[in-house]
Amino acid sequence: MWELDDLVSGRDIDNGGAAGNAEAAVRPGVCPECGGSGFILRQDGQAAVCRCYAHKRLAAAQRAARLQPAMQRMTFANFSLACYPANAQVTGGRGQTCYQLARTALAKARQCCDAVAAGRSPRGLLLMGQVGCGKTHLAAAAANDLLVRRKSVLFLVVPDFLEELRGAFSGVDELEVRRLNERAKTVDLLVLDDLGSHNFSDWTRSVLFSILNYRMNEGLTTLATTNLDFTALQELLGDRSLSRLLSLCEPCLLACDHDIRLQGLEKS
Ligand SMILES: [Zn+2]
Repeated sequence: MWELDDLVSGRDIDNGGAAGNAEAAVRPGVCPECGGSGFILRQDGQAAVCRCYAHKRLAAAQRAARLQPAMQRMTFANFSLACYPANAQVTGGRGQTCYQLARTALAKARQCCDAVAAGRSPRGLLLMGQVGCGKTHLAAAAANDLLVRRKSVLFLVVPDFLEELRGAFSGVDELEVRRLNERAKTVDLLVLDDLGSHNFSDWTRSVLFSILNYRMNEGLTTLATTNLDFTALQELLGDRSLSRLLSLCEPCLLACDHDIRLQGLEKS
């Protein structure tokens, strides 16, 4: 099977590849590695899936999982620990430095994905920290890791999801929205990105409670990101949803002394 980083770094392959061969030059848009068949012959004579085919399958799965283009390139391998200072202790981080917290979060996210890929349903993570500290990168990396391992994933940016569910966007398809809500309950990995960055009402609390409660009862792995602390989460979500969120997700702090997205690293 192709590795995720081979696939996300091979985005030019649909266009015939930057270093296409003579056939690709004659037939622009045709994969230079398989000539468009989707299969290649390995050195041992066995047929194998070409990178272009695996790439197309992953790209379709990423779109279905609602990963935005920038997030489709986020992997565990390009989550750069070098962005996190090794000498700065973090307030509330139990004496740990930014680097130690990030290393722990990365290791836990990898372990979680390995367990889901193996057919188990481990407790997920609640990635906490200020804007720009890498939470979304880690969450998207987990989503991509499991998509390439053919697990069902849904990545919801919570404020957008709630707006969509409410039918605030014109032309919204009611059946489609109901299906989306069902998928949020049942996928192997649900990511709730940016939890808390939206207006709360009884209705939004009820929607989130329904999803969290279902996933807790079914023991399904959930990963969430938030820049709120526990007190703010409790006020916004309410006790019942917060207790389910904490049952589903182990809190995991990330911190950085600068916004790593501004360096272009989180989206690289
Ligand atoms: Zn090919």
